[in-house]
Amino acid sequence: MKILFATSEAHPLAKTGGLADVSGALPAALRQIGADVRVLLPGYPSVLDRVKRLTRIFNIDLPVHGETALLCGVMPDSEVPLYIIEHAGYYGREGLYQDKAGKDWPDNAQRFGLLSQFAAWLAGPQTPLDFHPDVLHCNDWQTGLAPAYLHFGKPPRTPSIFTVHNLAYQGIFPQDTFDLLGLPPESFSMHGVEYFGKLSFLKAGLFYATRLTTVSPTYAREIQTEAFGMGMQGLLYARKDVLHGILNGIDTVEWNPSRDKYLDATYSADNLAGKALDKLAIQDELGLERNPNAPLLGMVSRLTLQKGSDVVIETAPRLVELGAQIVVLGNGDAALETAWQNLAAAHQGKIAVHIGYNEGLSHRIEAGSDLFLMPSRFEPCGLNQMYSLRYGTPPVVHNVGGLADTVVHASLGNLSQGTATGFVVDVLDATTLFETIRRAFVLYKHKLAWRQLVRTGMAQDFSWENSAREYLDVYQTAIKA
Ligand code: ADP
Repeated sequence: MKILFATSEAHPLAKTGGLADVSGALPAALRQIGADVRVLLPGYPSVLDRVKRLTRIFNIDLPVHGETALLCGVMPDSEVPLYIIEHAGYYGREGLYQDKAGKDWPDNAQRFGLLSQFAAWLAGPQTPLDFHPDVLHCNDWQTGLAPAYLHFGKPPRTPSIFTVHNLAYQGIFPQDTFDLLGLPPESFSMHGVEYFGKLSFLKAGLFYATRLTTVSPTYAREIQTEAFGMGMQGLLYARKDVLHGILNGIDTVEWNPSRDKYLDATYSADNLAGKALDKLAIQDELGLERNPNAPLLGMVSRLTLQKGSDVVIETAPRLVELGAQIVVLGNGDAALETAWQNLAAAHQGKIAVHIGYNEGLSHRIEAGSDLFLMPSRFEPCGLNQMYSLRYGTPPVVHNVGGLADTVVHASLGNLSQGTATGFVVDVLDATTLFETIRRAFVLYKHKLAWRQLVRTGMAQDFSWENSAREYLDVYQTAIKA
């Protein structure tokens, strides 16, 4: 199976979010199971600086875009082959999508129009390469026009997969940018790339790709509804038969409590002694009262409304009254940052808040906490709940998206069957969250039952290999279609 994987970011070369993690890990996992997958990326400065064995394949002068080159190299760490579009005018700047002030680059339509055009060209029948992909895998709006280019290009049409990692970003541009991008005028319609009089890259991908995927089965169902569909629910519902939900994996080398270099003490499901030491260590590190028996609630997240930390803030004083400690690492909305800082000031020794981004601390919180809080309003997949399961820290989650697909609620039935791994709230409000955590504390006092819950969570397999096999199945289906 030959796959061209087109993406606008990939860890460790260029990253703004989860798309980069998937683009770093999935191609490597696909190669492990025998697929010939190659990644296509824009040549940002960080990419050109860090790619190994970089060589030039050709230069070309394109209408609209001008001088462009295609380079090849290999991905650091994984050795996945890379194709890189070199275009200094488009990609030779710091900031993938925005300038330092957080403003979108004004030429994003051209920048990612070029990426989409190259993806379709290199995957299509007229590719100048000796690599002839069986499928093109596109990711998020930045590559959304590629399935449209393939659709209107010369036959035979290479099948395409379009994966939604974040439905909130839709790549919407004024109609006049459409005229620059070389698609036929008839594609600018409701049954095409048009979205309320504008061009939408996301909609193009959703409309023209052979198969669609998103990053969890529950989110795949949710986005067909008005509550989660962000305006695309009608189209997603119409295409529900070709829409698949495939859970992301996690990096099981980076996130391994028995080998974690950030921890004071490592541990495993068979020997949890180190976890107790990590709890005392994080209490010391963040100025909480040293107390092995106080249930410690951890949270690591972007501080945005999506992540539900406003509901945790509302609940926090009552949780402290119950004897809990809370530790929060995150940054984002100024109002949420201030609210957390005020809470920490009012509950010294009980609530500790670290505003900022800190990789090592995020590992130590996962390890040292007794429960992990992740009550997101929506969550396409989510990684932190999977890390916390692996670290023996049962998560408290809202019953949405990837959270619903990865956490099994500690109901009496699930506990007695040995399948429970965490706590799931069906309704996200302060009362329900408080009641659920209060019940979790009751279980926490029953050491044997708690250990069973912890060990079941730690035994879950979230490696990329499973996901990679599911993607291979979708590629096969697309080829047959
Ligand atoms: P999202 O991608 O929506 O932010 P995920 O749970 O899927 O949420 O992934 C978030 C990732 O970012 C995780 O790896 C998490 O540990 C990390 N992260 C988020 N905020 C911080 C922070 N302040 N410091 C360190 N890591 C963080």
